[in-house]
Amino acid sequence: MPIPFDNSFSRLPDGMFTRQNPVPVAAPKLITINEKLCDTLGLDISDLTVEVLSGNAVPTGAAPLAQLYAGHQFGNWNPQLGDGRAILLGEVAGFDIQLKGSGRTPFSRGGDGRSWLGPVLREYIVSEAMHALSVPTTRALAAVTTGEDVLRETALPSAILTRVASSHIRVGTFQVYAARGQTNLLKPLTDHTIARHYPDANGPEDLLKSVIKAQASLIAKWMGLGFIHGVMNTDNCAVSGETIDYGPCAFMDEYDPGKVFSSIDQTGRYAYGNQPRIAIWNLAQLATSLIPLMPDEAAAIETFTHAVNGFSEVYQTQWLQVFGAKFGLANPTLDDAELIQDFLDLMVGSDFTQTFAALHTNAARDHITDAAAFDTWASKWQARRAENYADIMSKANPQVIPRNHLVEEVIQAGLNGNYAPFHDMLAAVTNPNERHEKYSRAPRREEAISQTFCGT
Ligand code: AMP
Ligand code: MG
Repeated sequence: MPIPFDNSFSRLPDGMFTRQNPVPVAAPKLITINEKLCDTLGLDISDLTVEVLSGNAVPTGAAPLAQLYAGHQFGNWNPQLGDGRAILLGEVAGFDIQLKGSGRTPFSRGGDGRSWLGPVLREYIVSEAMHALSVPTTRALAAVTTGEDVLRETALPSAILTRVASSHIRVGTFQVYAARGQTNLLKPLTDHTIARHYPDANGPEDLLKSVIKAQASLIAKWMGLGFIHGVMNTDNCAVSGETIDYGPCAFMDEYDPGKVFSSIDQTGRYAYGNQPRIAIWNLAQLATSLIPLMPDEAAAIETFTHAVNGFSEVYQTQWLQVFGAKFGLANPTLDDAELIQDFLDLMVGSDFTQTFAALHTNAARDHITDAAAFDTWASKWQARRAENYADIMSKANPQVIPRNHLVEEVIQAGLNGNYAPFHDMLAAVTNPNERHEKYSRAPRREEAISQTFCGT
């Protein structure tokens, strides 16, 4: 049976993508395939041969293409980015099936269109962990090695990730047509996005408000897990509200609101505590891009500005929900925000995940430096928490997150052809509420990783 592709993006007007097949590779080998996700998508696993997953064979019904987009990278406008190392094969059950690391495209600029093994393993593990942690995200359907090397600082084995997303439409996808004055493309993109993601939205204003809500909810979830995206450029901001692009991302070990991992984020633009502000910045770019579709520019600027400013209120509500659950509060109110913030202030320097995971037993006291201050805080908390607080908390405070030093260990083993650690870690992080001897533990000082690299 052929894969049941529907390729709605490929039916959009010319100028929004280039038809492009993946570039074949020398000797593809399967690392892993996500059987559960295959089932969810109604895919027959036998159709996803290593030839298909490596781009050596284009399956019947696919309409391979590279999408155009632009974006602000670290605040600087880049008028043309696009899929420089990814090919959208088509859509199945409403989801994009994309090969990432599949060779050069017209959007590759200086790049080789490939990915080395490290980022592929990292994205596989972290995106599947995010899904297991109930955070909207792109998914990983498969990973293969290519039998070829790519040149980074040294020669490294290359690999291809099959990424699944409810779409790959980004803020930068809107920006490119707005910047070029191509309302003739901006309009169908907007209609397509509404039909696909927000079918109840009535026009650009509703679309904007829907994306604002989705992003506010997403960022609140990131914050609740100590997740730092690391490269929140507008081209890495999906309008679906899914987490996309796992380049230099990291879950922090020790809590520090100013934490930055990415080696290229010199000014801390994408620091943990800055993420909500950056989301607003990105949404302002989306708002700006949608204005050409509005009949009255001045009126649109006013309503769109108001909508973007509304992010803070939506975010605050979402943040209260997320963090309220972490403290076992049944109906967190604005008063509880202070209780929550007081605890966060106390836990600076303590392991974010472990401290929360211990909180329902009061063992969190051992994680907090100022025990007396903890006791004062705890008496206020005990007066506030719900009767079934332990229940609420165990769901909201995972035992396992994909820690950086362990992801690195997986990558190092993978480079030696040993994927046992990859499978081991994947099993642990996709079962995040179960305590795990190895994967729950915080790194010792000498194990901890303080910097991540974009390393495409
Ligand atoms: P990213 O850092 O993954 O968000 O990518 C930013 C832009 O750089 C996108 O347009 C990518 O397609 C492009 N890019 C990243 N790595 C490569 C590569 N190895 N070859 C070609 N283009 C790339
Ligand atoms: Mg990207």
